Amino acid sequence: MKPTFPTDFWDSLAAFSNPVPNDVPGALRGLGVEVLRELSRTDSAEYLARCPAHLSLTGKADRHPSFSVNGATGLFNCFSCGYAGPFIALVEDTLGYDRVQAWRWIARYGVYRTAEEPAAAPVAEEAVRVNEASLALFTPPPLEACRRRGVSQEACAELGVLWEPRAGHWILPIRDPETGALWGWQEKGRRYFRNYPTGIHKSLTLFGDLSWSGGTGLLLESPLDAVRALTLGIEGAFASFGAYVSEAQMRLLKARCRCLVLGLDNDSAGRTARDKIHSRWRPRGLPMKFLDYGHTTAKDLGEMSDADALTAWAGAHHPWRRRR
Ligand SMILES: [Zn+2]
Repeated sequence: MKPTFPTDFWDSLAAFSNPVPNDVPGALRGLGVEVLRELSRTDSAEYLARCPAHLSLTGKADRHPSFSVNGATGLFNCFSCGYAGPFIALVEDTLGYDRVQAWRWIARYGVYRTAEEPAAAPVAEEAVRVNEASLALFTPPPLEACRRRGVSQEACAELGVLWEPRAGHWILPIRDPETGALWGWQEKGRRYFRNYPTGIHKSLTLFGDLSWSGGTGLLLESPLDAVRALTLGIEGAFASFGAYVSEAQMRLLKARCRCLVLGLDNDSAGRTARDKIHSRWRPRGLPMKFLDYGHTTAKDLGEMSDADALTAWAGAHHPWRRRR
Protein backbone atom coordinates (compact mmCIF):
# COMPACT_ATOMS: atom_id res chain seq x y z
CA MET A 1 0.00 0.00 0.00
CA LYS A 2 1.27 3.43 -0.86
CA PRO A 3 1.80 5.76 2.09
CA THR A 4 -0.33 8.86 2.09
CA PHE A 5 0.92 12.22 3.25
CA PRO A 6 -1.13 15.19 4.37
CA THR A 7 -1.30 18.12 1.93
CA ASP A 8 0.84 20.19 4.29
CA PHE A 9 3.70 17.77 3.78
CA TRP A 10 3.65 18.13 0.00
CA ASP A 11 3.21 21.89 0.24
CA SER A 12 6.27 22.18 2.48
CA LEU A 13 8.27 20.00 0.16
CA ALA A 14 7.21 21.95 -2.93
CA ALA A 15 7.82 25.30 -1.29
CA PHE A 16 11.52 24.53 -0.91
CA SER A 17 11.91 23.99 -4.61
CA ASN A 18 11.72 27.21 -6.58
CA PRO A 19 8.12 27.56 -7.78
CA VAL A 20 7.53 29.89 -10.72
CA PRO A 21 3.97 31.07 -11.43
CA ASN A 22 2.52 30.15 -14.79
CA ASP A 23 1.25 33.70 -15.14
CA VAL A 24 4.19 35.87 -14.03
CA PRO A 25 2.67 39.26 -15.02
CA GLY A 26 -0.61 38.28 -13.33
CA ALA A 27 1.20 37.29 -10.15
CA LEU A 28 3.18 40.56 -10.23
CA ARG A 29 -0.10 42.47 -10.48
CA GLY A 30 -1.33 40.46 -7.50
CA LEU A 31 1.70 41.71 -5.56
CA GLY A 32 0.97 45.30 -6.53
CA VAL A 33 3.96 45.45 -8.90
CA GLU A 34 2.90 47.11 -12.15
CA VAL A 35 4.60 45.79 -15.28
CA LEU A 36 5.71 48.85 -17.29
CA ARG A 37 7.44 47.12 -20.17
CA GLU A 38 7.86 43.66 -21.56
CA LEU A 39 10.97 42.57 -23.41
CA SER A 40 10.54 39.47 -25.52
CA ARG A 41 13.48 37.17 -25.84
CA THR A 42 13.72 34.04 -27.93
CA ASP A 43 13.32 31.75 -24.91
CA SER A 44 11.44 33.89 -22.40
CA ALA A 45 10.04 37.31 -21.59
CA GLU A 46 11.49 39.85 -19.19
CA TYR A 47 9.08 42.09 -17.26
CA LEU A 48 10.24 45.54 -16.22
CA ALA A 49 8.77 47.40 -13.26
CA ARG A 50 9.63 49.89 -10.55
CA CYS A 51 11.58 48.14 -7.80
CA PRO A 52 9.28 47.30 -4.85
CA ALA A 53 12.16 47.15 -2.33
CA HIS A 54 13.93 50.31 -3.45
CA LEU A 55 12.36 52.70 -0.97
CA SER A 56 13.10 50.54 2.05
CA LEU A 57 16.62 49.63 0.90
CA THR A 58 17.84 52.98 -0.38
CA GLY A 59 15.45 55.53 1.15
CA LYS A 60 14.32 56.61 -2.33
CA ALA A 61 11.56 55.26 -4.54
CA ASP A 62 12.63 53.76 -7.87
CA ARG A 63 11.74 56.31 -10.54
CA HIS A 64 12.98 54.24 -13.48
CA PRO A 65 11.91 50.69 -14.02
CA SER A 66 15.14 49.25 -12.55
CA PHE A 67 13.49 45.99 -11.60
CA SER A 68 13.12 43.03 -13.94
CA VAL A 69 11.56 39.59 -13.57
CA ASN A 70 12.28 36.71 -15.92
CA GLY A 71 9.14 34.97 -17.14
CA ALA A 72 10.76 31.54 -17.40
CA THR A 73 12.95 31.35 -14.30
CA GLY A 74 10.98 33.75 -12.08
CA LEU A 75 14.27 35.29 -10.97
CA PHE A 76 14.02 38.97 -10.15
CA ASN A 77 16.74 41.58 -9.96
CA CYS A 78 17.01 45.33 -9.38
CA PHE A 79 20.12 46.48 -11.19
CA SER A 80 20.15 49.65 -9.13
CA CYS A 81 19.83 48.52 -5.49
CA GLY A 82 20.74 44.85 -5.93
CA TYR A 83 17.48 43.43 -4.57
CA ALA A 84 17.37 39.99 -6.20
CA GLY A 85 16.20 36.43 -5.70
CA PRO A 86 13.78 33.69 -6.74
CA PHE A 87 10.12 34.56 -7.29
CA ILE A 88 9.01 32.98 -4.01
CA ALA A 89 11.28 35.38 -2.08
CA LEU A 90 9.50 38.33 -3.71
CA VAL A 91 6.18 36.91 -2.49
CA GLU A 92 7.56 36.34 1.03
CA ASP A 93 8.99 39.86 1.20
CA THR A 94 6.02 41.68 -0.32
CA LEU A 95 3.23 39.90 1.53
CA GLY A 96 5.15 39.04 4.70
CA TYR A 97 4.45 35.33 4.20
CA ASP A 98 6.54 32.38 5.25
CA ARG A 99 7.79 30.00 2.59
CA VAL A 100 4.81 27.62 2.61
CA GLN A 101 2.23 30.43 2.59
CA ALA A 102 4.12 31.98 -0.33
CA TRP A 103 4.06 28.68 -2.20
CA ARG A 104 0.27 28.41 -1.77
CA TRP A 105 -0.15 31.98 -2.99
CA ILE A 106 1.94 31.27 -6.12
CA ALA A 107 -0.06 28.09 -6.77
CA ARG A 108 -3.15 30.24 -7.37
CA TYR A 109 -1.45 31.49 -10.53
CA GLY A 110 -0.64 27.96 -11.65
CA VAL A 111 2.83 26.63 -11.01
CA TYR A 112 3.95 25.53 -14.41
CA ARG A 113 7.30 24.42 -13.25
CA THR A 114 9.67 24.55 -10.35
CA ALA A 115 12.94 25.84 -11.63
CA GLU A 116 16.21 24.92 -9.97
CA GLU A 117 17.00 27.06 -6.95
CA PRO A 118 19.15 29.71 -8.58
CA ALA A 119 22.75 28.84 -7.90
CA ALA A 120 23.24 32.60 -7.57
CA ALA A 121 24.85 32.65 -11.01
CA PRO A 122 28.04 34.59 -10.37
CA VAL A 123 28.47 35.71 -13.93
CA ALA A 124 31.09 38.42 -14.01
CA GLU A 125 30.90 41.16 -16.60
CA GLU A 126 34.28 40.30 -18.07
CA ALA A 127 34.65 36.76 -19.25
CA VAL A 128 37.46 36.04 -16.82
CA ARG A 129 37.88 32.49 -15.61
CA VAL A 130 38.78 32.23 -11.97
CA ASN A 131 39.67 28.99 -10.21
CA GLU A 132 41.78 27.86 -7.26
CA ALA A 133 44.89 27.94 -9.45
CA SER A 134 44.38 31.71 -9.81
CA LEU A 135 45.46 31.99 -6.16
CA ALA A 136 48.85 30.38 -6.84
CA LEU A 137 50.62 33.74 -7.17
CA PHE A 138 49.67 34.75 -3.64
CA THR A 139 51.34 33.82 -0.35
CA PRO A 140 50.19 33.65 3.26
CA PRO A 141 50.22 37.19 4.76
CA PRO A 142 53.51 38.04 6.50
CA LEU A 143 53.58 38.30 10.29
CA GLU A 144 54.42 42.03 10.24
CA ALA A 145 51.36 42.89 8.11
CA CYS A 146 49.16 40.74 10.38
CA ARG A 147 50.45 42.54 13.49
CA ARG A 148 49.76 45.95 11.96
CA ARG A 149 46.18 44.96 11.17
CA GLY A 150 45.57 43.15 14.49
CA VAL A 151 44.90 39.77 12.89
CA SER A 152 46.58 36.42 13.52
CA GLN A 153 48.14 34.25 10.83
CA GLU A 154 45.96 31.39 12.09
CA ALA A 155 42.77 33.38 11.51
CA CYS A 156 44.01 34.35 8.03
CA ALA A 157 44.68 30.70 7.22
CA GLU A 158 41.29 29.64 8.54
CA LEU A 159 39.46 32.18 6.35
CA GLY A 160 41.71 31.67 3.33
CA VAL A 161 43.16 35.19 3.40
CA LEU A 162 46.26 35.63 1.23
CA TRP A 163 48.82 38.28 0.30
CA GLU A 164 50.01 39.74 -2.97
CA PRO A 165 53.75 40.02 -2.24
CA ARG A 166 54.79 42.37 -5.05
CA ALA A 167 52.51 45.27 -4.10
CA GLY A 168 51.89 44.20 -0.50
CA HIS A 169 48.11 43.83 -0.76
CA TRP A 170 45.65 41.68 1.12
CA ILE A 171 43.72 39.11 -0.95
CA LEU A 172 40.25 38.35 0.42
CA PRO A 173 38.59 35.49 -1.47
CA ILE A 174 34.96 35.75 -2.57
CA ARG A 175 33.33 32.31 -2.71
CA ASP A 176 30.03 30.70 -3.62
CA PRO A 177 28.06 30.42 -0.34
CA GLU A 178 26.77 26.95 -1.18
CA THR A 179 29.68 25.21 -2.91
CA GLY A 180 32.67 27.22 -1.75
CA ALA A 181 33.78 27.63 -5.38
CA LEU A 182 36.02 30.64 -5.90
CA TRP A 183 34.29 33.55 -7.67
CA GLY A 184 37.15 36.02 -7.30
CA TRP A 185 38.62 38.22 -4.61
CA GLN A 186 38.89 41.63 -3.10
CA GLU A 187 42.40 43.11 -3.24
CA LYS A 188 43.14 45.68 -0.58
CA GLY A 189 46.13 47.90 0.05
CA ARG A 190 46.67 51.11 2.00
CA ARG A 191 45.37 53.27 -0.83
CA TYR A 192 44.32 50.52 -3.15
CA PHE A 193 41.13 48.60 -3.55
CA ARG A 194 39.59 46.50 -6.26
CA ASN A 195 37.28 43.56 -6.79
CA TYR A 196 38.44 40.94 -9.25
CA PRO A 197 36.97 40.13 -11.72
CA THR A 198 35.17 43.43 -12.22
CA GLY A 199 31.43 43.06 -11.75
CA ILE A 200 31.74 40.07 -9.41
CA HIS A 201 28.43 39.46 -7.61
CA LYS A 202 29.79 39.92 -4.11
CA SER A 203 26.33 40.90 -2.81
CA LEU A 204 25.17 37.29 -3.32
CA THR A 205 27.62 35.92 -0.79
CA LEU A 206 29.41 36.80 2.44
CA PHE A 207 32.99 36.78 3.61
CA GLY A 208 33.56 34.48 6.58
CA ASP A 209 33.28 30.84 7.55
CA LEU A 210 30.13 29.91 5.62
CA SER A 211 30.10 26.43 7.15
CA TRP A 212 29.58 27.97 10.61
CA SER A 213 26.08 28.01 12.08
CA GLY A 214 24.04 27.83 15.22
CA GLY A 215 25.18 30.61 17.52
CA THR A 216 25.36 34.38 17.71
CA GLY A 217 26.75 35.78 14.48
CA LEU A 218 28.35 39.16 13.84
CA LEU A 219 27.80 41.18 10.68
CA LEU A 220 30.60 43.56 9.70
CA GLU A 221 31.30 45.60 6.56
CA SER A 222 34.95 44.79 5.92
CA PRO A 223 36.37 41.28 5.41
CA LEU A 224 39.55 42.16 7.34
CA ASP A 225 37.42 43.11 10.34
CA ALA A 226 35.86 39.64 10.19
CA VAL A 227 39.40 38.20 10.31
CA ARG A 228 40.10 40.44 13.29
CA ALA A 229 36.94 39.24 15.03
CA LEU A 230 38.00 35.63 14.56
CA THR A 231 41.46 36.54 15.90
CA LEU A 232 39.71 37.77 19.07
CA GLY A 233 37.79 34.50 19.36
CA ILE A 234 34.48 35.65 17.81
CA GLU A 235 33.60 32.75 15.54
CA GLY A 236 30.50 33.58 13.50
CA ALA A 237 31.80 36.85 12.03
CA PHE A 238 30.77 37.67 8.47
CA ALA A 239 31.39 40.66 6.22
CA SER A 240 29.03 42.05 3.61
CA PHE A 241 31.84 43.76 1.61
CA GLY A 242 30.37 47.21 2.32
CA ALA A 243 27.56 49.18 3.96
CA TYR A 244 24.97 47.87 1.53
CA VAL A 245 23.68 44.53 2.78
CA SER A 246 21.58 42.67 0.22
CA GLU A 247 18.49 40.55 0.79
CA ALA A 248 20.45 37.52 -0.39
CA GLN A 249 23.13 38.18 2.24
CA MET A 250 20.50 38.55 4.96
CA ARG A 251 18.97 35.22 3.94
CA LEU A 252 22.40 33.57 4.24
CA LEU A 253 22.80 35.08 7.71
CA LYS A 254 19.32 34.10 8.86
CA ALA A 255 19.99 30.52 7.79
CA ARG A 256 23.12 30.44 9.98
CA CYS A 257 22.58 32.63 13.02
CA ARG A 258 20.33 32.09 16.01
CA CYS A 259 20.95 35.74 16.87
CA LEU A 260 22.79 38.34 14.79
CA VAL A 261 24.83 41.25 16.12
CA LEU A 262 24.79 44.12 13.64
CA GLY A 263 28.29 45.56 13.60
CA LEU A 264 28.09 47.85 10.58
CA ASP A 265 30.33 50.91 10.72
CA ASN A 266 29.78 53.53 13.39
CA ASP A 267 28.98 56.29 10.88
CA SER A 268 25.74 57.63 9.46
CA ALA A 269 25.67 55.22 6.47
CA GLY A 270 26.35 52.28 8.78
CA ARG A 271 23.70 53.32 11.31
CA THR A 272 21.09 53.89 8.58
CA ALA A 273 21.79 50.46 7.10
CA ARG A 274 21.71 48.89 10.57
CA ASP A 275 18.29 50.38 11.43
CA LYS A 276 16.83 49.34 8.07
CA ILE A 277 18.03 45.77 8.48
CA HIS A 278 16.60 45.66 11.96
CA SER A 279 13.15 46.93 10.99
CA ARG A 280 13.03 44.66 7.95
CA TRP A 281 14.28 41.41 9.48
CA ARG A 282 13.06 41.50 13.07
CA PRO A 283 9.45 40.75 12.00
CA ARG A 284 10.79 37.87 9.93
CA GLY A 285 12.03 36.04 12.99
CA LEU A 286 15.71 36.98 13.18
CA PRO A 287 16.69 38.18 16.68
CA MET A 288 19.24 40.99 16.41
CA LYS A 289 21.44 43.08 18.65
CA PHE A 290 23.58 46.14 17.96
CA LEU A 291 27.35 46.11 18.46
CA ASP A 292 28.14 48.48 21.33
CA TYR A 293 30.01 51.59 20.20
CA GLY A 294 29.13 53.45 23.41
CA HIS A 295 32.68 53.43 24.81
CA THR A 296 34.59 54.37 21.67
CA THR A 297 34.81 56.83 18.79
CA ALA A 298 36.22 54.15 16.46
CA LYS A 299 34.43 53.76 13.14
CA ASP A 300 34.75 49.98 13.07
CA LEU A 301 36.27 46.96 14.79
CA GLY A 302 39.53 47.46 12.88
CA GLU A 303 40.14 50.83 14.57
CA MET A 304 39.62 49.50 18.11
CA SER A 305 42.13 48.07 20.57
CA ASP A 306 41.62 44.39 21.41
CA ALA A 307 40.04 45.33 24.75
CA ASP A 308 37.64 47.85 23.15
CA ALA A 309 36.65 45.38 20.44
CA LEU A 310 35.86 42.70 23.03
CA THR A 311 33.87 45.24 25.07
CA ALA A 312 31.88 46.17 21.95
CA TRP A 313 31.06 42.49 21.38
CA ALA A 314 30.26 41.70 25.02
CA GLY A 315 28.11 44.83 25.27
CA ALA A 316 25.99 44.06 22.20
CA HIS A 317 22.53 45.21 23.16
CA HIS A 318 18.93 45.28 22.06
CA PRO A 319 18.13 48.44 20.10
CA TRP A 320 15.66 49.70 22.66
CA ARG A 321 18.34 49.50 25.37
CA ARG A 322 20.68 51.86 23.60
CA ARG A 323 23.61 52.73 25.80
CA ARG A 324 24.18 56.25 24.53
ZN1 LIG B 1 15.74 48.48 -6.26
